[in-house]
Amino acid sequence: MYVRGVGPRVAEMLAAKGIQTAEDLLYHLPFRYEDRQNPRSLDELKPGETASVIAEVRGSALLRTRGGPLFELTIGQGRFAMKCVWFHAGYLEGKFHAGQTVAVYGRLEQSRSSRNLKMIQPQFEVLPDASDDAETRLLEVGRITPVYESLGGNKLTSRWQRKVIFHLLEQMSGRMDECLPRPLLERLSLPDRETALRQVHFPPEGTPFAQLQSWSTPAHRRLIFEELFFLELGLELKRRRMKDRTGIAFATNDKVREAIREVLPFHPTAAQKRALGEIVADMRQPAPMRRLLQGDVGSGKTIVALQAMLVAIANGYQAALMAPTEILATQHFLAARKLLERSSHKPRVVLLTGSLDDDRKRANRGQINRGEAQLVIGTHALIEEKVEFDRLGLVVVDEQHRFGVLQRFKLMKKPGQAEPDVLVMTATPIPRTLALSLYGDLDLSVLDELPPGRTPIVTRRVPDERADDVWDFVRKQVGQGRQAYIVYPVIEGTKDDQPELDFSHDPEDGVAAPPPPRKKTSRKARTAELFNPAAQEASPNGKSGLKSAVDMYEKLRTGPLSGLRLGLLHGRMDADDKEVTMRRFHRGEIQVLVATTVIEVGVDVPNATVMVVEHAERFGLAQLHQLRGRVGRGAAKSYCILMTGPRVSPIGEERLNAMVRTQNGFELAELDLEMRGPGEFFGTRQAGIPEFRVASLVRDRQLLEAAKQEAARFVADAGAEATEAERARVRAQLKETWQRRYGLVEAG
Ligand code: ADP
Ligand code: MG
Repeated sequence: MYVRGVGPRVAEMLAAKGIQTAEDLLYHLPFRYEDRQNPRSLDELKPGETASVIAEVRGSALLRTRGGPLFELTIGQGRFAMKCVWFHAGYLEGKFHAGQTVAVYGRLEQSRSSRNLKMIQPQFEVLPDASDDAETRLLEVGRITPVYESLGGNKLTSRWQRKVIFHLLEQMSGRMDECLPRPLLERLSLPDRETALRQVHFPPEGTPFAQLQSWSTPAHRRLIFEELFFLELGLELKRRRMKDRTGIAFATNDKVREAIREVLPFHPTAAQKRALGEIVADMRQPAPMRRLLQGDVGSGKTIVALQAMLVAIANGYQAALMAPTEILATQHFLAARKLLERSSHKPRVVLLTGSLDDDRKRANRGQINRGEAQLVIGTHALIEEKVEFDRLGLVVVDEQHRFGVLQRFKLMKKPGQAEPDVLVMTATPIPRTLALSLYGDLDLSVLDELPPGRTPIVTRRVPDERADDVWDFVRKQVGQGRQAYIVYPVIEGTKDDQPELDFSHDPEDGVAAPPPPRKKTSRKARTAELFNPAAQEASPNGKSGLKSAVDMYEKLRTGPLSGLRLGLLHGRMDADDKEVTMRRFHRGEIQVLVATTVIEVGVDVPNATVMVVEHAERFGLAQLHQLRGRVGRGAAKSYCILMTGPRVSPIGEERLNAMVRTQNGFELAELDLEMRGPGEFFGTRQAGIPEFRVASLVRDRQLLEAAKQEAARFVADAGAEATEAERARVRAQLKETWQRRYGLVEAG
């Protein structure tokens, strides 16, 4: 389709931004709006707020300061005036002329020297005047004006986009296909697609401005709903399709029940019973199970999974457990072997990890292939080593492996065999709406109860200066026969290439900048220093200020903790050493384990009662919660000590306070999600979280719920309320959306 203003060259630039069709361009929404109908008056502005102002250019100057060229623009309304400043902005010289009208948008600060306000680094637009064409004036003056992120260079600006989109909307007027059934839209009081697109770009007069800024106008809601609906519809269909596939219908007779009962070391909690009930009910069905077992750290997922695996084994099948790290695989292996000693079936348990030597790997592979091993525990190696199972019945897999891996389980079974059941476990307490939606193609079981006999973990923040008290405390606990972890953010030295260096990525994170120097300098220079972050870079912000596991292991061993038995564990050690260290810690031979976050997930040593985290302000909330979950696993009182340096960013503060305030993983997860957004929240982007073009999983949770309901309804009654033409368009849109956008979310 020909779009006015888009030639081959521009098309190329757009394609680089993922905009390939006219429709893509229409779904590139303004990221904010300016109310040029009711502009703000300069005298009502307050320091600290971010505001949009329309005013007249009075004058400008380029000042030479120590921090670089500083561009100052003076704008005014009647008798009020205000300055706008930009750093390193020589390029602005000559851009403004007295008498022009400009729209500026930015943060206001109180000027140091006077009571006046200053706008810092605003975005700006010189508004069209009588000499400009009528159309430009129409789109930019005296109305609510959309502001777009630039799509490239100084050509595809906000102004350019307004025009192109304006024409595109005109061109397509009356010709835009509705992709949602009309009855559905009516039920939810949402506008049709064309209306929504038009209004979201050019809001009609009188649209409440607050609704626009929060993306909650009916037009916004319609487009968000649309996107979420097609996500949910796809997930729902996948789930249905799975139910039509041929899996294994496991039996649960007395023999099977006895096989489980004889190995259970304790009474399961009500939640564990319920979860196992749900899992076993799935396993009995002929369709393959795809279920998510969600439970906070320490809620006892492992034993539930083991029970499910015993059901498979008692039915004459093999079961596989895939752990995220070698340490965990080894720990599960040892625990399973011990537990199954009591089993009258005596299933053979086999470990398969990448670091085993080739002979052992080959031998284990053979046992798996011949069906001599019933329970196989391993890492990714299970897939990478192309192990073919004799009769695979159940795969238990850690959440981290889920995306992109489930497909490949097919490699693990012999051709022609039924599909194994799959249980995905996650220790991330994902807020329920999100879990239901993101893992919409999985059924969900939740362990919402901790095993009995746990005492709450006492969590304290302690400044670095009190380190000696902390080490004394560790000594005391060890003196009482307990064990401790001490965790550092980096392995060694000062470099930045450490695998465990996994800080949360908020840009404001880490160490706050020191206050500006108070020495006597020229006013201009001081201004520059105050506002120019580069001028303040002397902060000890670099990674070099961090204590590391290796260094501190030496220091503690020879200093404050001398005489205690210390061990060191980090990701760069080879697998054998790691295993030996873990075993020694398990057996209590190591009393204090100095480590990085390799111990984060799943490590289970009930006698450990102290978790010390140094540089706690550098860790993400989910990480801190996981780390704390390593203690409080036995009956003894446990402690989590979060040590911090002198400077903690506001976000860091918030995280630490939350840790002290609550131990509830779901509460922390909600907070974490709000602070970081889903991409960061789930760890890495590649985790397969869909990237939306208009929706946000944090902001739009209610719409997500509605979309899920409507999708389920649509599938359940085969779109009965829609016309055949509407159904066809839903199908077409679904296909396109999934092919183009959610290629990653493949559940196999
Ligand atoms: P998760 O994997 O969910 O973090 P684990 O399965 O490692 O939790 O269990 C945590 C600890 O609680 C383990 O020491 C486990 O043996 C113990 N545990 C699990 N279930 C129970 C129970 N019902 N009663 C007592 N202890 C339990
Ligand atoms: Mg576990």
